[in-house]
Amino acid sequence: MAVAGTSAEIRSVRLEKSRERPCNLGDYEEVLATFSWAEARAMLDGLPGGGLNIAHEAVIRHSLGERAETTALLWLGKRGERRAISYRELADEIRRFANVLRGLGVEPGDRVFVMLGRVPELYVAVLGSLLAKAVVSPLFSAFGPEPIATRLKIGRGKVLVTSPEIYRRKVAQIRGEVPDLAHVLVTGRESGDGTTALQPLLEAASDQFETPPTDPEDMALLHFTSGTTGTPKGAIHVHEAVVAHNVTGFYALDLRPGDVFWCTADPGWVTGTSYGIIAPLTNGVTNLVLEAEFDAGLWYETLEAEKVDVWYTAPTAIRMLMKAGKEALQGHDLSRLRFMASVGEPLNPEAVLWGQEAFGQPFHDNWWQTETGGIMVANYASMAVKPGSMGRPLPGIEAAIAKHLPDGGIEIVEAPMVEGELVLKTGWPSMMRGYLGEEARYRKCFVGGWYLTGDLAKRDEDGYFWFVGRADDVIKTSGHLIGPFEVESILIEHPAVAEAAVIGVPDPTAGELVKAFVALKPGHEPDEALRRSILGHARQRLGAAVAPKLIDFKANLPKTRSGKIMRRLLKARELGLPEGDLSTLESDEK
Ligand code: ATP
Ligand code: MG
Repeated sequence: MAVAGTSAEIRSVRLEKSRERPCNLGDYEEVLATFSWAEARAMLDGLPGGGLNIAHEAVIRHSLGERAETTALLWLGKRGERRAISYRELADEIRRFANVLRGLGVEPGDRVFVMLGRVPELYVAVLGSLLAKAVVSPLFSAFGPEPIATRLKIGRGKVLVTSPEIYRRKVAQIRGEVPDLAHVLVTGRESGDGTTALQPLLEAASDQFETPPTDPEDMALLHFTSGTTGTPKGAIHVHEAVVAHNVTGFYALDLRPGDVFWCTADPGWVTGTSYGIIAPLTNGVTNLVLEAEFDAGLWYETLEAEKVDVWYTAPTAIRMLMKAGKEALQGHDLSRLRFMASVGEPLNPEAVLWGQEAFGQPFHDNWWQTETGGIMVANYASMAVKPGSMGRPLPGIEAAIAKHLPDGGIEIVEAPMVEGELVLKTGWPSMMRGYLGEEARYRKCFVGGWYLTGDLAKRDEDGYFWFVGRADDVIKTSGHLIGPFEVESILIEHPAVAEAAVIGVPDPTAGELVKAFVALKPGHEPDEALRRSILGHARQRLGAAVAPKLIDFKANLPKTRSGKIMRRLLKARELGLPEGDLSTLESDEK
């Protein structure tokens, strides 16, 4: 396929770190050859009757063993508060919450929506609900009334756990639209206006609660996707997903006993639940929670002061740190930081290398989706990083590149460096079990035992996968297929460029023209000379066929609240088309 292979041309640099202890995943090939999901399952305790319950594996079992007094949650509040909650204490809290639900008549399978900032009650509510076999659906705390109502309706929420303030501002007005919502539990002590105060209920509840028999196929989580490509879908996950959460935390994030782990994603999104709550706890580490929003200085202070060992963040945050410059890092001792990973969007090679420069180690990109429930493709601590590559499939995951056939089938492409859809062999534990209320859409994701991810990628001769773009975002220009990622990665190499998003705009001759939207670093002004300089850089690195023809400067790029650039919105605006579902839109600038 005629695509300028910029990413393929990037040298494979071995960015090794000297660390005293061996990584959990020592030799990839060896683990690949011996891995079995049965053994991954055996890393967990299971329930006496043979079932599997996420909360039991994450908290209860540790509270009964040698980790009982280890800090499970290290909470750093917005006002400088600091609370260390041990596994034993967390177990008591979540048992109380489970008893509160039982007291309200919540049955296994009932839906509990949790809409809170990153406060301890959120973690107690999520885990307590899972313990009681209620289905948890996290809602991002900055959602407005409409997205809240839509999700509560789709999910038939019976209980909402939120704060009095969020309720007053955003939920009270839609209460009439959601008749299934029987209980609104608000943090603190004040009931009223159709809400019940949570704190007194917790205090009155017993901390004795036997983990109920839980079938691994019992529904556990309802996660709405980010809405980057359209209306968010409600992906259903079951308790068995914990097998994947745990083993990916172990292999892909290299979590080890005694670690302090920080996942910066909000638990309103799947990363913040799978890796901001479940995986660190099943692995028995200390899970750091920072309530405050992004701030480069505060983040570096936190990494240093709390001696974070493993840090899991996202490309948007990394680009913001890059924008803040290395000066912000100066004076911070981050020698404790052992492993840094990123997910959510393609991680530009520039960002990987910046990690090496600024922290002495690269960011390790990994790839997965709400639908996959856990990490599927990753750069591991023990493996060479190829900047710009998502890494290799998790042992136990069969990933491949597929071509679509005219008869609706697919053909797996064996040859390296051929672009096609990234597909995964079905059957891993955290695979979604459905899109709630959208059976046909769910079925369309599968062909011949493969799950179609909707992302385009290629695999190189060493088995590393390279992200090309979402299938919807790929640009067709003069017979070339261009993935926005490779163009964006080149654009952000330019010293003035902080972020870039690339779309195709219709053109009578070329089919589509490549158009770039660019946000500048502080201290740079958008003018004609800069436009020419950026275009020149892109043309030199990509060739005239692939380089953007057009550049627009923007103060901010539109993003989802989970930090993903919304190319579809840039395109809709460019073409004067309907903007579609904007429920997850965050920063915006028309
Ligand atoms: P929606 O499905 O509603 O449009 P979404 O796909 O953004 O939203 P998520 O499930 O949160 O919702 O995101 C998964 C997608 O994010 C992947 O399909 C992929 O396009 C992108 N992604 C995640 N990690 C990476 C990565 N490391 N490299 C490239 N893309 C990534
Ligand atoms: Mg998606």
